[in-house]
Amino acid sequence: MSKTIIISNRLPVQLEIHNNEIKTTPSVGGLATGMKSVHSGSNDLWIGWSGLTDENIPKNLEEKIDTTLKDHGCAKVKLNAEEVDGFYFGFSNRTIWPLFHYFLEYSEFELNNWEIYKAVNQKFADAIIAKADDDDIIWVHDYQLMLVPQMVKDKKPDISIGFFLHIPFPSYEIFRTLPWREEILRGLMGSDLIGFHTYDYERHFLSSVRRLLGLDVSFNEVHIENRIVKVDSFPMGIDYKKFSEAGKANSLNITENQSDFQQRLNAHKESTKDAKLILSIDRLDYTKGIAKRLNAFEYFLNKHPEYKEKVRLIILAVPSRSNVPQYQLLKKEVDELVGRINGEFSTVNWTPIWYFYRSMPFENLIDLYTSCDIAWLTPIRDGMNLVAKEYIATRTDKTGVLILSEMAGSANEMNESLLINPNNFEQTVAALQQAINMPVEEQQERNDILQKRLERYNVEKWANDFINSLKEQKENSISYV
Ligand code: UDP
Repeated sequence: MSKTIIISNRLPVQLEIHNNEIKTTPSVGGLATGMKSVHSGSNDLWIGWSGLTDENIPKNLEEKIDTTLKDHGCAKVKLNAEEVDGFYFGFSNRTIWPLFHYFLEYSEFELNNWEIYKAVNQKFADAIIAKADDDDIIWVHDYQLMLVPQMVKDKKPDISIGFFLHIPFPSYEIFRTLPWREEILRGLMGSDLIGFHTYDYERHFLSSVRRLLGLDVSFNEVHIENRIVKVDSFPMGIDYKKFSEAGKANSLNITENQSDFQQRLNAHKESTKDAKLILSIDRLDYTKGIAKRLNAFEYFLNKHPEYKEKVRLIILAVPSRSNVPQYQLLKKEVDELVGRINGEFSTVNWTPIWYFYRSMPFENLIDLYTSCDIAWLTPIRDGMNLVAKEYIATRTDKTGVLILSEMAGSANEMNESLLINPNNFEQTVAALQQAINMPVEEQQERNDILQKRLERYNVEKWANDFINSLKEQKENSISYV
């Protein structure tokens, strides 16, 4: 029986070792949820790095870790600290991440990191080759593993390989600056199907393939040797049911069922009835435009002092990649901006910004989504932005206004939100005013359409659409040969 093998940098279970005991926590992320529909067969497999470097795995626990992972349908790729440094923090997060998000000046071109990236990709490919049969389906995920498809295809030419990129694919003018641009494209071209979140990313990719590899592209198919590689867009959705049900449970207002955090939010709202809560949630990443948003908020308060004490911005910044220098600088910048703005505008009754630098458990995330009147999500560049979709899904009574950057992939599917260019402060100020004053009926009309779309294009549909398209592509390419 054929099986599906999923490959991603991290496994859907987190491993921790305390006092020689292994603790596993299933990942709650959207990817793990979406995969449930395509990764549930008894012999299906998920291959990835456990999150622990070789140096941190006690020798006597190796076998136990493998059996624990096997029970979760997983197998690990072993990486040492040097490999994680060069492959993950180095090439993936200091070269590809900034470049693909148009932060050219942050992108480092280190030969040594590239060499480690290649070697680690080969390790992942070898792990697949060791486990895969010719009739299996392989689904490779994201920018850390772009060389894997061709490495597998070299050894297993008949196997069906799909690749999905979870971040933007930049325009040719940006991509061409990468010293190893042809190698990356050739790595990806080992796939039978390559998926992106949006049609624009797909277009950029095809343009680079045509111009850098000189391959024949017709519509969304690339002809390479005796194969056809199909390129398509599959916008990733969320686990709609999970978010809308959590939103519903929260809105029942049964106090004993509510978290302490929610009760405090309720008390606050009660005491400032005519004030609006504005929410922003992001990983602390320079692509998310957090500093720019804070500057825009300061600009808004200066331009419209009548909103002082009438709005509060809640910023949840989730710690991320804190050993990469740009992230440390950003943390400092955001800390200082919050301090300055609060120092400048606070009154005895009012602090304009509540700032949380931590990650919150799901329950408190829902508390924030359901309590805030406005979600203000303005990345400078973002592959998708799932927070925007989650906010809308939890709004059971259909109230709430989403202000979303047009640079987020999700903007393509969320036209009913207030779309803005985050660099345009005048437009941002106008959107904030519009959101604060939007009549409830208009909020509900907009959210009704958004919710229906999100419910239909949920994460399960995304995963199924991709796998079905891969299966179809395989059949077509057999008949083509
Ligand atoms: N999230 C979380 N804990 C938090 C804040 C956010 O688990 O404290 C989740 C959030 O629910 C969302 C994800 O992190 O699913 C962020 O995804 P998004 O696409 O918005 O951005 P990314 O971080 O992937 O760039």
